[in-house]
Amino acid sequence: MGDHVGTKLDHENHLLLDQPLLRLPFELLRKNFRSAHFEVEKDGTFVKNLLKETASANYSQTPQEDVLKNLDTMIARMRGVKRKLTAFAEEEDRLYHHEEARVKHLAELYSMYSVDDVKYESWSRTRLDRLLVDYLLRHGYNDSARALAEERGIELLVDVDTFEQMSRIRKSLLNGSVTEALAWCAAGDTKKELRKMDSNLEFMLRYQQYIEIVRSKARTKPNEALAHAKKYLFPYRETYPHEFRQACGLLAIPPGDARSVYSELYSQARWEMLADLFTSTHNTLLSLPPVPLLHVALSLGLSALKTPACHSIHPASTAGAPSHSTSMLLAASVCPICSTELNELARNVPYANHSKSHVEPDLLMLPNGRAYGKARLEEYARKAGLLDGQVKDLRTGEIFSMDRLKKVYIS
Ligand SMILES: [Zn+2]
Repeated sequence: MGDHVGTKLDHENHLLLDQPLLRLPFELLRKNFRSAHFEVEKDGTFVKNLLKETASANYSQTPQEDVLKNLDTMIARMRGVKRKLTAFAEEEDRLYHHEEARVKHLAELYSMYSVDDVKYESWSRTRLDRLLVDYLLRHGYNDSARALAEERGIELLVDVDTFEQMSRIRKSLLNGSVTEALAWCAAGDTKKELRKMDSNLEFMLRYQQYIEIVRSKARTKPNEALAHAKKYLFPYRETYPHEFRQACGLLAIPPGDARSVYSELYSQARWEMLADLFTSTHNTLLSLPPVPLLHVALSLGLSALKTPACHSIHPASTAGAPSHSTSMLLAASVCPICSTELNELARNVPYANHSKSHVEPDLLMLPNGRAYGKARLEEYARKAGLLDGQVKDLRTGEIFSMDRLKKVYIS
């Protein structure tokens, strides 16, 4: 029975980590639909207005060619909408295809009831590959990620395209260009979504553009900087007052003075900040977790397996205590946390299983039944300015004489 419980597959818990797997295509579908809607609205309004204008025109004054020209414009515009909608429909098909493959992959898990099931091994292998591809993509190793996905045949289960687009924009920011990131902000109705989540990304990109104009042209073409500030920064003077004030001051301070407070604004490090801001905004917008899932899975696994003995031979912990590897040779050979590969990684993760309770050393019990560490009681008494030989309860504030306290032994 115990064995059965130990190897039983808990489906719900297994799927906790896999929410983003279904979530991303869903978010992309939503984005795709909203973008299509945006295009239809935009061109629809244009055509409706032009139609109204043409229909209500005075025919005795409007030449026939103009009316025909308007009709042609409307037809061309509608053809354009059709072309755009075809592209949106193809994207929708592609995403449904992804979603279907993912649902199928997760549903496979429900046909297994025990981790001993032979099918489970290959399923969890696929999951590991998915996590590895996700990790590679988030770190910009796009070619390796694509190659791994192709080799394992899991292209539909990973998000190569989304992350490739993201890393392309990230790279362009690191190379000192805001054009691609600004285009991303302006695509479809992303602008509206960004506003909804109070994102400062677009403002910061425009701000950087301003800094670059000031850097290169403040002397030669001061008007260009002013025009940019007026158009893109001035409307946000109340939302970002600090940045706006600095932008004004920047005009007076040329780059190159390392002592000035403005040297930070001229610094190259701002591009890294912008790249990180873009990445986090992109991930939030698409409901992608901020860290690679491999990290989450790994720290959960390490935490579950870690025992207090695992780090006892290392200098950072209590020296001389018996360890897994000296006192229990058998444990060392089977304990993954004691292995050289995982030992360092596991050092800072918490224990899932608390086999020890933590109490202050040198506990003393007050007559009211409460117990505190001696050092803390003494410190508190000193701070409270009590007479020698008196202590004060840290919580209730009652004062007792030192000789009424009892030492507490934990057995
Ligand atoms: Zn161990």
